Amino acid sequence: MIDIAPETASMLYVGGLLSVLLFIWLRHSQKVGKRDNKRMATRSVSCEYCGSCYLVESFTSFHRCPYCQCVNKGDDEV
Ligand SMILES: [Zn+2]
Repeated sequence: MIDIAPETASMLYVGGLLSVLLFIWLRHSQKVGKRDNKRMATRSVSCEYCGSCYLVESFTSFHRCPYCQCVNKGDDEV
């Protein structure tokens, strides 16, 4: 059996608790970062035929309007 002073035991307990909290915080910040990247991947464009606004993925060069089904070029960002 290892003899541990009460101060050492309490320091180990606090250190373990802080490690768990740090792990949870890092996991949470990773999830928030992924969500922001997904939001950045879309952009708002307006249809050049009916004028309605909708979201498209940012890397597409041609996209179809969900309202009038016309194909628009991708560089007319709102
Ligand atoms: Zn349209």
